[in-house]
Amino acid sequence: MPAEIIDGKAFADEVRGQIAGHVARLKAEQGITPGLAVVLVGEDPASEVYVAAKHRQTVEVGMASFEHKLPADTSEAELFALIDRLNADPAVHGILCQFPVPDHLDERRVVARIDPAKDVDGLSVVNAGLLASGEKGLVSCTPLGCLMLLRDRLGDMTGLNAVVIGRSNLFGKPMAQLLLRENCTVTIAHSRTRNLPEVCARADILVAAVGRAEMVKGDWVKPGATVIDVGITRLPHPDKPGKSKLLGDVDFAEAAQVAAAITPVPGGVGPMTIACLLANTLTACCRAHGLPEPEGLTA
Ligand code: NAP
Repeated sequence: MPAEIIDGKAFADEVRGQIAGHVARLKAEQGITPGLAVVLVGEDPASEVYVAAKHRQTVEVGMASFEHKLPADTSEAELFALIDRLNADPAVHGILCQFPVPDHLDERRVVARIDPAKDVDGLSVVNAGLLASGEKGLVSCTPLGCLMLLRDRLGDMTGLNAVVIGRSNLFGKPMAQLLLRENCTVTIAHSRTRNLPEVCARADILVAAVGRAEMVKGDWVKPGATVIDVGITRLPHPDKPGKSKLLGDVDFAEAAQVAAAITPVPGGVGPMTIACLLANTLTACCRAHGLPEPEGLTA
């Protein structure tokens, strides 16, 4: 039987609806408006598109959106001065610097400058450490989105074999930590893993975050597995000249014949990322004001 297709777009709409409800209550009952500041250095066209989408969705859920667009030749000292102001601003609960930044800036130093309590991308060493120690922090948005999709589909994941392909700080490592928290038996695979198809074929939960189009074939998938495809590769469209096509890391047509459920690309994991950025901003706001955290929107 073909797999159930996990509709990440519909799920993300639902998550944003829940967030909007929480925001409306915070405003009405506490007089608090959660605020997200996004910093963009330079004029990378793809980054401009992401920043515009973040701004639109932030406003749509009723939050305050603070956009800071800086010229490409902004010095580290100037960028840090802005981050310091945002760290100190009580109207700002989340801060995100859109990457990539121009070459003369060091992404790790930029992330480290953001107050960990406002690091809604969950990329700082402090937040990675809190996740690894099983303590409360802010979790990187895309793995948090995948966790929400998995919880919704599977509920209790105790004892399931989970394989994450990819070990980046942005995705693979936090995803593995989250699955460990759910009591899965977790394997992290990467470019040096031997017998990758065999490793994957043991997975009840298979999460692919590599960036190699359709690498995971149908016979890598355990019958009945849940497959989460994080990878995004943009290739020229085979039928439409001048257009591009997005492909995931999983051969969707093959895997969908074997898996119980699978996320498509596009429309699977992608839409969850901004929804989780807003969820993290709401969480950071509640924590800053000593209020209960929103249920179901945190790790
Ligand atoms: P990354 O930092 O480039 O990491 C890729 C990982 O894949 C590395 O750990 C690498 O292993 C591993 N890898 C490379 N070739 C492999 C192979 N042949 N077999 C097994 N593993 C292999 O990328 P990332 O930032 O984690 O992102 C991964 C993908 O997810 C990209 O396509 C990205 O666009 C996508 N993504 C999507 C979203 C979203 O919102 N939907 C968000 C984040 C990322 P080594 O460590 O050994 O090099």
